[in-house]
Amino acid sequence: MEQKPTIGFIGLGIMGAPMAAHLLRAGHDMLVYNRTPSKMEPLIALGAKAGKSCRDVAERSDVVISMVPDSPDVEKVYLGEKGVLEGVKPGMLLIDMSTISPVTAVIVSEAAAKKGCQMLDAPVSGGDVGAKKATLSIMVGGDPEAYEQARPIFELMGTPTLCGPSGAGQTVKACNQIQVALNFIGMAEALVLGAKAGVDPAIVVKVLSGGYAQSRVMDVRGPRVIKGDYEPGFRSRFHYKDLNIIRETARAFGCSLPASALAHELFSAMQANGWGDLDHSAVIKVVESLSNVEVRTGE
Ligand code: NAP
Repeated sequence: MEQKPTIGFIGLGIMGAPMAAHLLRAGHDMLVYNRTPSKMEPLIALGAKAGKSCRDVAERSDVVISMVPDSPDVEKVYLGEKGVLEGVKPGMLLIDMSTISPVTAVIVSEAAAKKGCQMLDAPVSGGDVGAKKATLSIMVGGDPEAYEQARPIFELMGTPTLCGPSGAGQTVKACNQIQVALNFIGMAEALVLGAKAGVDPAIVVKVLSGGYAQSRVMDVRGPRVIKGDYEPGFRSRFHYKDLNIIRETARAFGCSLPASALAHELFSAMQANGWGDLDHSAVIKVVESLSNVEVRTGE
């Protein structure tokens, strides 16, 4: 039987930890590394070995996967001191699954190519639930042969789609984040209007979920929002980061996105109010404050 590649996994947060666990359970040997070392412990308990740095992980792996917050983090992980590119061998496959700017994805993949390595951008959608259930939608940019090589790994975490060349995965993820942000804002406005007019929010969620307004956003988060539960999930500061990526990308391509600009401002207000670590569904708190109402179910 062909030996499965040893995987180096960097970034073991809400998403990275369950994704890495699926790969371990499928029989891959694994090196892990996280900025806060205690987050490596659950993976070590499942059989992973602790890496000392990003470079160390790259030196002892066949494939490196990263799942860190933002573009500067990805630059640090790959291009920084003791970074991945200091430890790679030519022919290695590198996969960044963080959500970052398409421009940064291309810059880092070009630096990897100079070291003889293929790099894929492979951001995901599906949230913490999708990471735990291995049902993530994985949007991949890069070389088709590298994609085929990575496909069995992706399929242990969800469903991959090759979207185009380097950066294309991040572009499609930006499109995804527009739709999700606007869904949350639509849900917030519907619930605020209902509450202000005296309708139980649980009724609004139930009825809208059964008709044309149904959305995954409302199915997953509606019942929690009306109880005031904003436990992340996906932190609003990350969605704010993504809305900044969307605006930069729109500017780069001469694209006008008025509703995304509004979403950016509402998510900016969340950060100003100290709600950056709440789930992105907490955008309803901004919409509530505009109408001086709190959406809560009477149940
Ligand atoms: P998270 O919980 O903050 O996890 C990120 C992890 O990366 C943290 O454990 C962090 O370490 C680690 N890290 C940061 N810089 C590092 C470095 N230089 N070296 C090693 N480790 C480093 O974030 P997340 O929710 O998993 O999100 C990760 C990415 O997935 C983001 O780009 C996000 O936009 C995207 N995403 C998230 C979701 C979601 O629902 N959460 C859904 C889709 C996509 P510390 O422990 O020290 O902070």
